Amino acid sequence: MIVMKFGGTSVGSPERIKSVVNLVNDDKRKIVVLSAMSGTTNVLVKISELFYSGNKDVTAEIDRLENKYATVINELFGTEEYKHKGRKLVKERFDLLRSFYGVAFDAVAERAVLAQGELLSTTLTHLYCEESGINSVLLPALNFMRIDKNAEPDNYYIKEQICRELKSYPEVKLFITQGFICRDANGEINNLKRGGSDYSASLIGKAINAEEIQIWTDIDGFHNNDPRFVENTKAIRELSFDEAAELAYFGAKILHPASVWPAQEANIPLLLKNTMEPQAPGTVISSKTEEEGIKAIAAKDDITAIKIKSGRMLMAYGFLRKVFEVFESYQTPIDMITTSEIAVSLTIDNITHLDRIAQELRLYGNVEIDRNMTIICIVGNNIMNSKDSIAKVFKALDNVPVRMVSYGGSRHNISILTDSEHKADALNQLSKYLF
Ligand code: ASP
Repeated sequence: MIVMKFGGTSVGSPERIKSVVNLVNDDKRKIVVLSAMSGTTNVLVKISELFYSGNKDVTAEIDRLENKYATVINELFGTEEYKHKGRKLVKERFDLLRSFYGVAFDAVAERAVLAQGELLSTTLTHLYCEESGINSVLLPALNFMRIDKNAEPDNYYIKEQICRELKSYPEVKLFITQGFICRDANGEINNLKRGGSDYSASLIGKAINAEEIQIWTDIDGFHNNDPRFVENTKAIRELSFDEAAELAYFGAKILHPASVWPAQEANIPLLLKNTMEPQAPGTVISSKTEEEGIKAIAAKDDITAIKIKSGRMLMAYGFLRKVFEVFESYQTPIDMITTSEIAVSLTIDNITHLDRIAQELRLYGNVEIDRNMTIICIVGNNIMNSKDSIAKVFKALDNVPVRMVSYGGSRHNISILTDSEHKADALNQLSKYLF
């Protein structure tokens, strides 16, 4: 069995939904995981904000989104019978949204609102299959996808439930389910965080021990540099799980970083494919490691660097633990870290608690904060063993002021921190020297 996940743009219009159905309609048994139609989750986030603030504009916002879906229904379905079914579904979903008007709005309500995008896209696609005479079963993700009290996937439960559901339909080839949404340990609707549909697909793949997990987007796989800043980038055909995890995390926004790990644990190949060009080979991510050398460059913006300088760090132990505890207590992950004997520099991308973190760090030393930084990540298999890779990187960055360098943390990555204004230059220079 395989898993095929389609992102928001791949189901972003009636035309695109039809192409997805065309793509998945063959003899292979599969679970199709869908995101919400593109733009929908953003509007649902906005609707939640308006509910929270008690702003009356919320009804107009809901109406606008509902009108969009009315157009989708008209264009997606050919028969009056299915247009009617589609309208009924949309009305149910939007009535539910309106039911939050005037009542106390909380996190539980917000998550129910955010879930509506995936519930709509999957039900519409399922109805379209039905209208087209394609046999498919809609598997409600809320029946099997669950996170525990630490917000970690409950793998045992997911496997049990989904396998039980699949067993009830031995003849069915095509299953459709929602990405992103799940239930939490209290049984309430929750989600796997923004962009989490890739993660859903990977967790499902692991649970059913799929032959392959395909992630379909609108670009032809990972590129060896950022095509928005560098000309003539190339799609990478093969990546190891470790390389893909580094690239996914450091900026190459094509795959949710958390989705690599479940596939890696179960040793299931992840395939990145392009819905606009289904015949193109895409990128295969697997346990296979190719020859050594630099393979790709990615950049992650909106990074904040924090330096803590203290004489007390000199030959002391326990200093780093205290620093890390501050970040832990504010649930703020650290990305990059470099140390000297009297200072430690680290980077974060979540600045929600920055002020309080800085305040607590000042107990341990002098704190300097630099905003608007970019991490440039150079990835390749065994990059550390490959001859002159670091020399080439430094040569390429001759004119770029580098704030931090991280080398040796993993065998597959060299990370550089620079001011975001130097990003485009750095990416282009690296491309010139490394490829
Ligand atoms: N619809 C959700 C989002 O926009 C999840 C996803 O598409 O992966 O974040």
